Amino acid sequence: MHSAVISEVAPRDGLQSIGPFVPTETKIALVRKLHAAGLRRMEIGSFVSPKAIPQMADTGAVLEAALTLPGLEATVLAPNRRGFEMAKAAGAHRVGVFMSVTESHNKANVNRSRMDSFVDLSGIVADARAAGMKLRFNLSCAFHCPFEGVVPETEALDWVERVQALDQDIEISICDTTGNAAPDQVRRVFAHAIRSWPGPDGQPRFAFHGHDTYGLGVANCAAAWEAGCRVFDSAAGGLGGCPFAPGATGNVATEDVAWLFSRMGVATGVDWPALLEAADFAAAIPGALPGGRMRAVPAARRAA
Ligand code: ZN
Repeated sequence: MHSAVISEVAPRDGLQSIGPFVPTETKIALVRKLHAAGLRRMEIGSFVSPKAIPQMADTGAVLEAALTLPGLEATVLAPNRRGFEMAKAAGAHRVGVFMSVTESHNKANVNRSRMDSFVDLSGIVADARAAGMKLRFNLSCAFHCPFEGVVPETEALDWVERVQALDQDIEISICDTTGNAAPDQVRRVFAHAIRSWPGPDGQPRFAFHGHDTYGLGVANCAAAWEAGCRVFDSAAGGLGGCPFAPGATGNVATEDVAWLFSRMGVATGVDWPALLEAADFAAAIPGALPGGRMRAVPAARRAA
């Protein structure tokens, strides 16, 4: 049987733009429920300045709780060297770094040029390897940019090529940050990347991070899968909508992705009833903007 890895991102991407502060014990309860649902990879939080993103100020405490859960690989994001040092000291299994494929989004997001970001992150990649940490390199806005529109595939692949040349053990996420990628675009980009830059063991080194703004999140996951991608980011309850961007919806919902793969005969290790419970819990967090379809489908409910 084929299998796909779901990397759950509700505790980070799902919660970070919620207005009211989500209590630490709620975040930990969410992580525990997701773990109980069989999810074994999770983006726990972000070691970013609490002034920039107050919601992530308790990442250290949430990570500490996550590290007690058996078999869970805990990822934290680090926007810079300071964040990386905190992630290393806190014992995160994997550190996630990020930059944008487009110059204007990178400037808007981290206030520097892509090349400046890339040079800095290259140094972190080397240090993470020396420290024995796993690495995830996220390339944001690889398909569509809020400032520049549809991103030329050659531009996305140019950045994938640069990143993959840094270290053959990095996992590279090609991210549909705005949820405006098209499945044919996703299929072509992944097929090219997987064919051109295989991992050291012949396994693909790529992950797909999708949002569901235009309702294409699941279709894009299916397209990435068919191109050979085997790692998928998603958020239980479809969390991740930005309250300051009307109409923007969140990450593709974990329960939708899990259903897709179960219908395709692809194993994910997810326990369906426990996942629905975790998704309901996530969707009910005060201030959350939930999404996804499966929580509202009666037959999917009955399957639980
Ligand atoms: Zn995202």
